[in-house]
Amino acid sequence: MNAELLTADRHTETAQILDFDRSHLWHPYTSASHPAPVLPVSRAQGVWLELQDGTRLIDGMSSWWACIHGYNHPAINRAIEEQLHQMAHVMFGGLTHTPAVELGKRLLRIVPQELKRIFYCDSGSVAVEVALKMALQYQQALGAREKKHFATIRGGYHGDTWHAMSVCDPITGMHNLYSGVLPEQFFVPAPRIRFGQEWDPEDFRPMARLLEEHHHELAAVIVEPIVQGAGGMRFYHPQYLAALADRCRSTGVLLILDEIATGFGRTGEWFACRHAGVGADIMCIGKAITGGYLSFAATLCTDSVAKTISDGPAGCFMHGPTFMANPLACAAACASIDLLHEQPWQQRIRSMEQQMKLELNPATALPHVADVRILGAIGVVELHHPVDMGAIQYLCLSQGIWIRPFGKLVYIMPPYIITPDELSRLTTGLRNILSCL
Ligand SMILES: *Cc1c(COP(=O)(O)O)cnc(C)c1O
Repeated sequence: MNAELLTADRHTETAQILDFDRSHLWHPYTSASHPAPVLPVSRAQGVWLELQDGTRLIDGMSSWWACIHGYNHPAINRAIEEQLHQMAHVMFGGLTHTPAVELGKRLLRIVPQELKRIFYCDSGSVAVEVALKMALQYQQALGAREKKHFATIRGGYHGDTWHAMSVCDPITGMHNLYSGVLPEQFFVPAPRIRFGQEWDPEDFRPMARLLEEHHHELAAVIVEPIVQGAGGMRFYHPQYLAALADRCRSTGVLLILDEIATGFGRTGEWFACRHAGVGADIMCIGKAITGGYLSFAATLCTDSVAKTISDGPAGCFMHGPTFMANPLACAAACASIDLLHEQPWQQRIRSMEQQMKLELNPATALPHVADVRILGAIGVVELHHPVDMGAIQYLCLSQGIWIRPFGKLVYIMPPYIITPDELSRLTTGLRNILSCL
């Protein structure tokens, strides 16, 4: 077949894919009546996404925080292939396996030391559901039946399932759509003092008051430590988290840390709670856990939480997903954590942070830019007005980069393996897009 025919063939194939997609597939947060445009990706390598027509884009999103080592990584590929030949999956009820145990050992080495018990889940939202159920069962086991509500800060995001949604920000989470049926939780304003600013204890006052007045109705407080991700991309002061951990302990309210976005190095620490030197009663991890290869997550808790639940009326923890501890996902996660141990990733994140500060801070001068903030390997440009997604997608193609803003937030969290040169191309493309808006 000659080259021209081949190209024509590929065009038809692409058109067919896009046509079926538009008619039958539902993408995240989109309308089926007016489907948003999507780009067909054929392969991905390192930090590059390759579209069906051969266009290459530098990935600024790590596929939503997950793909920290880049795509098609030989070590993770190998780990999955080797595991595949042993077993792809086996139920976790009454059975166990080496990948689950090996991953457990690796996790216990890096999480806050009081977390000793691991519950494997199949996605981040499920890990949050599991955490909330653990907190409820814990309080019930202690006979505190009225401690059945949850408290959190505004501007948070904890997933899309029912109870996880109830602790997401009420505005961006559109709680009004489900009013009357969604459980109502306690909210206090988001912390105002930012990471790096001078701490003001006033910032914690609303949460302190809430805990004082309502601790007898609260099973737990759930927050994303330091970085509020999908709910607003804001970085708050570690003292807030330290005060929260302290006050939760003294009022008998459990602390759930949702490290699903922040875990595995993104903020410059293994987990963001290390910035504040605090641990948790319960912690959720996900997203980057398998290096972006497979959907997987975990909820960890202290021995005290695990034992109290287990000695309570139910006599067990009441949850058990079909694909719990999937061996392929465990093997990928082991390989991803090993890759982090094998390289000076902290140094890498620090230099990404420095470079993004140098290259993104100048965007502050643009008229529609409200704020630029950078922490670890996360760069955020907040605009005065929401962006037009269709325009962004088109501009991405022209700049050879892949970003996915939401609302007023244009942000990047690239794979850690991005080279300084590739990162410059990404930030330059981003600045060019910002100046076209
Ligand atoms: C993405 C995310 C979740 C939900 O994870 P899914 O795997 O999408 O269900 C929960 N909490 C935080 C902080 C997240 O960033």
